[in-house]
Amino acid sequence: MTIESPAGQSSAGQSSAGQRHRVVVVGGGFGGLNAVRELADADVDVTLVDRTNHHLFQPLLYQVAAGILSPGLIAPALRGIVKNQANARVLLADVKELDLEAKVVHATGPDDRPLDLPYDTLIVAAGATHSYFGKDEFAEFAPGMKTIEDARFTRDAILSKFEMAEEAADPAERAEWLTFVVIGAGPTGVELVGQIAELAHSVLPRDYRSINTRDARIVLLEGAPSVLPPFDKKLQAYTHRQLEKMGVEVHTNSLATSMDHESITFKSPEGEQTIRARTRIWAAGVAASPLAKQLAAKAGLETDRAGRIPVNPDCTVAGHPEVFAIGDMVSLNKLPGVAQPAMQEGKYVGKVIKKRLAGEKDTAPFKYFDKGSMATIGYRSAVADAFKFKVTGVIAYAMWAFIHVLYLVGWGNRLLTLYQWLRNLVFTKNRNHRIITYSRAKKDINTGRIYKTGRLSAILPAVSRPDDLNRPLAVPTRPASETRSGA
Ligand SMILES: Cc1cc2nc3c(=O)[nH]c(=O)nc-3n(C[C@H](O)[C@H](O)[C@H](O)COP(=O)(O)OP(=O)(O)OC[C@H]3O[C@@H](n4cnc5c(N)ncnc54)[C@H](O)[C@@H]3O)c2cc1C
Repeated sequence: MTIESPAGQSSAGQSSAGQRHRVVVVGGGFGGLNAVRELADADVDVTLVDRTNHHLFQPLLYQVAAGILSPGLIAPALRGIVKNQANARVLLADVKELDLEAKVVHATGPDDRPLDLPYDTLIVAAGATHSYFGKDEFAEFAPGMKTIEDARFTRDAILSKFEMAEEAADPAERAEWLTFVVIGAGPTGVELVGQIAELAHSVLPRDYRSINTRDARIVLLEGAPSVLPPFDKKLQAYTHRQLEKMGVEVHTNSLATSMDHESITFKSPEGEQTIRARTRIWAAGVAASPLAKQLAAKAGLETDRAGRIPVNPDCTVAGHPEVFAIGDMVSLNKLPGVAQPAMQEGKYVGKVIKKRLAGEKDTAPFKYFDKGSMATIGYRSAVADAFKFKVTGVIAYAMWAFIHVLYLVGWGNRLLTLYQWLRNLVFTKNRNHRIITYSRAKKDINTGRIYKTGRLSAILPAVSRPDDLNRPLAVPTRPASETRSGA
């Protein structure tokens, strides 16, 4: 089915077919959404196509995984975001092929119906997916976190392990349920272990009767010599110290070599070690969306090691001035795969399109404004490297909170997020979003997941010692004095 743009009335931006200039944007993430918004006052018809119906604020995914924020706060509906932008419409579809010759995007709707989207200008902003550095078999045992489903899965996976530990009688088995291994000590890995440590040490201790959740073993593995590899050395050292204070076991220069549903083996300068752990979370690598490779092949270009397509200084694809590629899926001026380049490129591309329609031929190349980087470690503790200042502790935490709330989409979401954080900081250490069910817990415990092209593509059959799970309960109870002692 061919989807034509809604009929426009103006003539300034007319396409060759006599219609208003048609802009198709693939991906409603940081890059795509900023391009769409920049085009709000342009004489164009914009079609935003995404395989989710929401814009996802990925930097706060770990807070969903930790039960702090509800998914809706960081994933507002795209349709709602552009509801007042009359020249834009949203389609829920999976883009399969970019036909650069015919200038048509081929996608499929949720019921597999083919959708053809003709364009005059194309913006591809399809982001990135997990990379297991060639060890794709790890995906089954150590799911990553890239989508809202991933974050919910991670939350359920973490919380259900405490439930299992409460039901386990054998101390060795209980220790396995209470061991959490995160692979990758970039911001996401650091933030995740920080949150698991807070859950285990501050939030959950009073909730359980048989186990002391403070016994949880939280392990962070990093292949590089330090945590937060791209950050300043002082901030790395501070982060390492803070994590250890929080009870996180940090192993740098350590590479995961194998894993299964119950253990992980890694190699470090001290040799090879195996940790018995029922939870492994992958926070190590990303690779560009497969659409980058497709686009590169069609344009006769080579992708880099991360699968990113090189683009011209104005974000166009070589030989195709009508095709822009932006964000995590492109390599441009050695910019990192973080939100700011994607957002700024999106705005820039929107402006370039408007200038072209106004008849301007020469456009200045994209220029990145570095606003710095930051990461939280745990309760009131963060690191920030911005405008030549290196800040740690509560001040960095406040800076981080301010920036993240500022960039959330929608005032309602900003206010509710602020309320949630203040409530957690000042009044309670409880987490509001700790809902798991028997069937979710069972699924997490007995199944693995495989990612292909960044999407959940298969649920595997049970492999995890079902005999143990069916064993009659013989649950020892903690002394009442210990359960009441609090955090
Ligand atoms: C857990 C996590 C934490 C992060 N923390 C930070 C942080 O603290 N600070 C920071 O600056 N950056 C952070 N990042 C990175 C940041 O989120 C990305 O750099 C940014 O999202 C890139 O924007 P983008 O527009 O290129 O891609 P995305 O925001 O990923 O958007 C891509 C969009 O394309 C859609 N899409 C992909 N393929 C298709 C297809 N075939 N058909 C239809 N739609 C498709 C996707 O559904 C998605 O909506 C984090 C990322 C993750 C995963």
